[in-house]
Amino acid sequence: MSQFKMWINGKWVEAESGKTYPVYNPATETEIAQVPLGGKADVDKAVAAARKAFPIWAKKPQAERSQIAMKMSALMQEHAKELGAIDTMEHGTPTKTAAASVVMTAQRFEWAAYNGRSLMGHTVPSTAEDLVYLQREPIGVVAIITPWNVPLAMVVGKLAPALTLGNTCVIKPPSINSLTTLKLAELIEKLELPPGTVNVVTGPGGTVGESLAAHRSVDMVGFTGSCETGKRIMALASQTIKRLQLELGGKNPVIILDDADVNAAVAETVTGQFRNSGQICGSPGRYYVHEKVYDEFLEKYTAAAQKLVVGDPADERTQMGPLVSGEHRNRVEGYIKSAIDEGAKVILKVAREEIFGPVACFMEKFNSDEKVIEMANDNVFGLTAYVWTRDTARGIRFANQIESGTVQIGQSHGWGPELPWGGYKESGIGKEGSLYGLYDFTNLKRVQVDLQAMKK
Ligand code: NAD
Repeated sequence: MSQFKMWINGKWVEAESGKTYPVYNPATETEIAQVPLGGKADVDKAVAAARKAFPIWAKKPQAERSQIAMKMSALMQEHAKELGAIDTMEHGTPTKTAAASVVMTAQRFEWAAYNGRSLMGHTVPSTAEDLVYLQREPIGVVAIITPWNVPLAMVVGKLAPALTLGNTCVIKPPSINSLTTLKLAELIEKLELPPGTVNVVTGPGGTVGESLAAHRSVDMVGFTGSCETGKRIMALASQTIKRLQLELGGKNPVIILDDADVNAAVAETVTGQFRNSGQICGSPGRYYVHEKVYDEFLEKYTAAAQKLVVGDPADERTQMGPLVSGEHRNRVEGYIKSAIDEGAKVILKVAREEIFGPVACFMEKFNSDEKVIEMANDNVFGLTAYVWTRDTARGIRFANQIESGTVQIGQSHGWGPELPWGGYKESGIGKEGSLYGLYDFTNLKRVQVDLQAMKK
């Protein structure tokens, strides 16, 4: 068992309280580490350090910060196996995919590095008398609060743009999965940044998270997590009108039309549904299958799901590991039980609320495009949607009417740092990935010069 420390102001430290809390391996439910139980005093120290580092870091030329981001990507790739092994141990990510996922995540730093160097402002039509131009500037101290479901990717999705573009950061990783972030901080230490440029404070959301969201010296909160916590953070952040980037929940519709390639749709949706044991915000949530292909789809889907290799995540053959904790397992089972009580039929181990587990909800059959669009939109979330058809024009008609930040037609794979990700409605505010995701971590300034006055 290991004893971890927090990374504050360029030093490894205990919590001010001296207390720690345990982290468990979800596959064996045994304790694997003790982590500092941070609180408000630790947040104050970290934010003060980040505030002090901000002018130093923000003034560095973008070329230098981009080179540092490239180095961070290289370090992550070099340590991918190690980071992946921690992810398997604390989160249950199958070994089969853990290291590859670290390498993919490292691309976030490369993307931010390249694009940070050409993050241009522009001129607004100016006259001989007036010059008006826009420039992007770092925001200040950014609090990064992340969920447990893909711990490393969630941190890097915000840290890469925030840091590369000149902000200083205080990260609060998920309490139950803090170890990958603390390991990441060991790599950050190798960058020899000004002390306080990046800080990691571990501990519960109710104290560490709330202190960050309410802190007067924090300028922005980048948060990924549940809708409920997102709303609480919005309320706390409103006290000082902080910038917000919120990536929240989803209950994503999958629409299988009568002209869909059923075999392809089954293969991709089963993979997408059970990846990370269904604990992914973009996982399919509600299946709407056209009555003409309903029976065929359901039969093939059930057969494909039955073939998944479920087991010990440390075993190379395992495709689906455990849920993140016993507590979460009970929560998912509770959803299944209440669905049965309300008349649902369980076909395998399998709506409105997000279940965040290996549960595929098949809704009533449909036979009208208009009706299914209405049903898909009848939800508070609007994160992503999947439409399976062979007719491009029909697919685009669906895309134009579905209320969500992403619509994928005839596929459910594909990821890259160049792709924007972020929800409509209660699924969030702002984007992660793409140039829009970089812009979210900057302030836009208008500079206006009266050239006539300059001559005088
Ligand atoms: P959560 O909201 O419970 O916790 C997220 C983070 O917030 C954790 O670090 C937690 O400690 C902290 N927190 C909890 N209460 C807080 C408070 N009052 N103030 C400040 N911080 C607080 O979410 P979770 O259970 O860790 O993660 C699952 C959720 O995350 C799901 O709803 C999922 O859809 C969502 N998610 C969304 C995306 C996306 O990109 N949209 C990606 C991954 C996960």
